[in-house]
Amino acid sequence: MPFRAVRIDKTEQGQAVGFVTMTDAELMDGDTLVDVSHSAVNYKDGLALSGKSPIPRRFPMVAGIDFAGAVAETTHPGLKKGDRVVLNGHGASETHFGGYARRARVPGAWLVPLPAAFTPAQAMAIGTAGYTAALCVLALGRHGAKPSDGPVLVTGAAGGVGSVAVALLKKAGWHVVASTGRPAEAAYLKDLGADEILDRAELSDPAKPLGKEIYAAAVDSVGSHTLANALSRLKRGGVAACCGMAQGGDLPASVMPFILRGVTLAGVESVMQPMPARRTAWDLLARDLDGAKLAEMTTTIPFDKVFEAGAAILAGKIRGRTVVEIGGGLTRPRLPACAAS
Ligand code: NDP
Repeated sequence: MPFRAVRIDKTEQGQAVGFVTMTDAELMDGDTLVDVSHSAVNYKDGLALSGKSPIPRRFPMVAGIDFAGAVAETTHPGLKKGDRVVLNGHGASETHFGGYARRARVPGAWLVPLPAAFTPAQAMAIGTAGYTAALCVLALGRHGAKPSDGPVLVTGAAGGVGSVAVALLKKAGWHVVASTGRPAEAAYLKDLGADEILDRAELSDPAKPLGKEIYAAAVDSVGSHTLANALSRLKRGGVAACCGMAQGGDLPASVMPFILRGVTLAGVESVMQPMPARRTAWDLLARDLDGAKLAEMTTTIPFDKVFEAGAAILAGKIRGRTVVEIGGGLTRPRLPACAAS
């Protein structure tokens, strides 16, 4: 049965991104076929949907860096038809067709069994951003940071990674300082678990080599001057988990916090994590992420609205997480591929 997908094609002008109709025969290789019910809009999805980024590394490419759904067919020994699964990363939307399609064929080894605590919609409410937030929280613990050491700073707090990080860290007992450029979201962040709100402008400008020692830890999805400021304000022995670059991919920082305070900068990548690390992150989410808080941070949109949501996330206008209902079979006629503007 034909299904809708968001496909990125290479053109002489650059990239064309739009809805197309596809069939199973056009999918890529893999031992497992999944009926995709939900995907999400992550920052990287916004970049891919813009048609201006180097996210796809081969063409054509189906967008969507994550998905959740049920196994339709498989020869993978660890899976059976009907199993509910989630996929984060592994090159989805980059080198392998991703989640913005009703069907996906992937190696079964990439699929995490959905924890019983979550529906597929909730798994995508968490999505790659939330799973990465969990990896950041685990990284802080791995490097010895603990709530009794002092407050934790979360940057980009009203975004996807930030929202889930705030909720997880509060549940783990931290005093959470949420940095945001959106003062209107203060009540939202306090509901999620923030104890204090910090205007992100305080972290946006060039950092002093060593600032006042304030934070025992930080989860940073913003990079650039913001991460440099977080590092310079870490207490002796503090830890910052760095996963994103919403402000920029540069790191204009001093070595002083490292050599005089022994702070640790822990890099976090989610795409190629091995299965045990993925399961640990999803187990943490199943244990510590409150369903009501997850609902509070989630907006659900129909597949048709994915381009608007992609533009909004790049403009910093998305609060929390956006779930995309990929839904049933072909419900609309083929839409023309719209050249990305
Ligand atoms: P969102 O857009 O949902 O959140 C990013 C937040 O960063 C915004 O909501 C905003 O928070 C803040 N922000 C945006 N622009 C600026 C700016 N110029 N200066 C300071 N703060 C800014 O994105 P996600 O949470 O989905 O992703 C965040 C980052 O993490 C991205 O760079 C993404 O690519 C990366 N990422 C990396 C992964 C990995 O594997 N390492 C996996 C997932 C995400 P506020 O409004 O509160 O100020």
